[in-house]
Amino acid sequence: MSDKNSISSEMHDLVIIGAGPAGLTAGIYAARDKHDVVLLEKLSPGGQVLTTDFVENYPGFPEGISGFELMDRIKKQAERFGLTIISHEVQEVDWGGSIKQLSLDSGLMNARSIIVATGAKPRKVGIEGEDLLTGKGVSYCGTCDGPFYREAVVAVIGGGDTAVQEAVFLTRFARKVYVIHRRDELRATKIIQERAFANEKVEFIWDTVPISIEGETGVERLRLRNVKNREESTLNVEGVFVLVGTRPVTEFLDGAVALDEQGFIKVDRRQETSVPGIFAAGDVTSENPRQIATAVGEGTSAALYAEKYLEAQEG
Ligand code: NAP
Repeated sequence: MSDKNSISSEMHDLVIIGAGPAGLTAGIYAARDKHDVVLLEKLSPGGQVLTTDFVENYPGFPEGISGFELMDRIKKQAERFGLTIISHEVQEVDWGGSIKQLSLDSGLMNARSIIVATGAKPRKVGIEGEDLLTGKGVSYCGTCDGPFYREAVVAVIGGGDTAVQEAVFLTRFARKVYVIHRRDELRATKIIQERAFANEKVEFIWDTVPISIEGETGVERLRLRNVKNREESTLNVEGVFVLVGTRPVTEFLDGAVALDEQGFIKVDRRQETSVPGIFAAGDVTSENPRQIATAVGEGTSAALYAEKYLEAQEG
């Protein structure tokens, strides 16, 4: 794999956008089959998995594996087959004709087929103080920022796998972790719930939503509202981890392919979008269980069906 920063003006058979599990897996298949393939990644390869402390449900690793190590291994496997990864951000697309055009941050690139594997980003909770205090106590990644909160009291917002798993992770550093959830039942899977319930540093605040995050130069407190009795309260915390799900990275598509009402890309069983020759895989796709294993599977299908598409085009 070469981290080239110069853009080729040549046409590519396949351009993959995004280097998370879906994009890298598509890259492994396409590069191994000796296709003219380029993978574009805005930052560095790895995707959201890099923000996961420990992965224990990806097959083949009975003892579990860190998110960083798993992605490093997948990247090395792509390197072995000579996948070219170029660090550029796709800003606009023109996919009207049979040749697909990509406007990058420093030039144009053309392709016969595309796989969009841009993944998803953390969602904001949308309350007062959130933007102002982001990076000053408000975080969207426990695995990344947890070590800054040694002996601190912190709050996690959300009740899904990410929130509950990260809450347990944060107890390695924080002396107390409150989990604020808007219902009285968690969405997280049972095994993750049980670990949190068994951890005496974790305390759940049920049926409650945050209404503002307050502090002068950093987070000092969280204002809360009980959704059942409407009572408001204040919780003194030094950090707030907003872990309320994800939103797809599809802004750059600007209507080029059909999206669902939340902005995720609609695909058929071959991972093909509403535009022939444009495929999508991983967390960016609609009705996706958002697992590493499903992203890998979708990346595989997208690469194989992109190949069939190219063969059909060649006649
Ligand atoms: P998620 O499953 O969508 O959960 C989001 C949580 O945030 C829900 O509990 C939701 O409450 C809450 N929430 C959403 N909007 C809110 C708001 N405005 N105010 C307050 N709370 C709000 O997202 P996720 O936990 O990031 O997980 C995403 C996907 O990744 C899931 O498919 C999950 O299974 C997967 N994942 C798997 C693992 C693992 O297998 N170890 C780890 C991490 C993630 P409600 O429950 O009331 O809707």
